[in-house]
Amino acid sequence: MQRDLFEEEHQLFRETVREFLAREVAPHHDQWEKDGIVPREVWKKAGELGMFGFGVPEEFGGAGITDFRYNTVIDEEVMGIGATGLGFSLHNDIMAPYFVDLTNDEQKARWLPGFASGELITAVAMTEPGAGSDLQGIRTTAVREGDHYVVNGQKTFITNGINSDLVVVVAKTDPTAGARGTSLLVVERGMEGFGRGRNLDKVGMHAQDTAELFFENVRVPAANLLGDQEGQGFFQLMRNLPQERLSIAVMAVAVAETVLRATIEYCRSRKAFGSNIGSFQNTRFVLAELDTEVEIARHYVDKCVLALNAGELSAVDAAKAKWWTTELQTKTVDRCLQLHGGYGYMLEYPVAKAWVDSRVQTIYGGTTEIMKEIIGRSFGF
Ligand SMILES: Cc1cc2nc3c(=O)[nH]c(=O)nc-3n(C[C@H](O)[C@H](O)[C@H](O)COP(=O)(O)OP(=O)(O)OC[C@H]3O[C@@H](n4cnc5c(N)ncnc54)[C@H](O)[C@@H]3O)c2cc1C
Repeated sequence: MQRDLFEEEHQLFRETVREFLAREVAPHHDQWEKDGIVPREVWKKAGELGMFGFGVPEEFGGAGITDFRYNTVIDEEVMGIGATGLGFSLHNDIMAPYFVDLTNDEQKARWLPGFASGELITAVAMTEPGAGSDLQGIRTTAVREGDHYVVNGQKTFITNGINSDLVVVVAKTDPTAGARGTSLLVVERGMEGFGRGRNLDKVGMHAQDTAELFFENVRVPAANLLGDQEGQGFFQLMRNLPQERLSIAVMAVAVAETVLRATIEYCRSRKAFGSNIGSFQNTRFVLAELDTEVEIARHYVDKCVLALNAGELSAVDAAKAKWWTTELQTKTVDRCLQLHGGYGYMLEYPVAKAWVDSRVQTIYGGTTEIMKEIIGRSFGF
């Protein structure tokens, strides 16, 4: 079916992004996988091209356009070349609402120009060694002392963990107040007591710096609190998590589609028993099922993008998009790998890399099980 999500300006933007990725990313990504990190220069180059912070007001160096279709274009193009090391989606899709919508004018002036130019790389630190799905169980504390908060604790699995300059840290400002005792504080590179641990060795996404962070008596100015008062952190997270989950769903469908198209081509040319493997009924049925499911997923996700733009994407709708598309992604790459036979297990084949890179998608941003909890709770049992 015809896709009708994009206008001409998005298609033009897609050409620009595609050209940038072909020039600045694709030739280097294998090396970045070996390095375990993407160099900061590529962030600056993407920033010069206007790839960050469309929603950042023009006075602070952005485009002043709130339209998630631009984010979608970037996510699709990045996934289209398997550049899973770029933390752009974390910065653009997940962090932008924290920095654009939850900041006051003084904070905007301090952070948004760097956000848009790619000179200030962002991250969000929710997860701790002892608490991931259960966010209320975090133990990092921020104790107010005069004009500062004193932050103590440890975070793990943080995307852009090594490269980040601004980290939105989820901390307890009042451990006795439950959901109302959590706040978001921006911890900046170089603050005394803020340390980085290991750049973690993962199953896939080897070019992505996913790291441990440590906070030991870090004195964070009270002026770095997001929101106009303490204790709003949990609600701020709930506000922004649907967009985070939609971003993951957009990428899930993009990966599934890319791998599927490549596999169809492979099945055209690979021969066994005197004919191409696409001539076997099993191959055609597997591809037919995947093609159907991926197309249906795409239309649901496109609808979610428009709902987000209209300010109407609910937590439940986003949870549906996240679990369904990421499970479909892992199923698709697994079945496509099978259709590649032994070559599918060789990392020089994109399907093999997609297989290892995809596995995490059903875990971060809220696991499949937590997504089903969100949907299930909506029935009011
Ligand atoms: C590559 C990568 C990047 C990440 N990036 C970030 C980041 O940038 N920032 C950040 O803060 N975090 C990040 N994370 C952390 C990620 O969000 C968590 O790993 C995830 O939320 C799950 O938390 P957990 O690992 O503690 O698992 P747990 O919460 O311990 O869950 C273990 C298992 O129990 C299940 N489970 C838990 N609770 C329930 C329940 N109520 N009902 C049924 N099943 C349940 C889970 O679904 C899972 O299968 C990242 C993780 C990875 C792997």
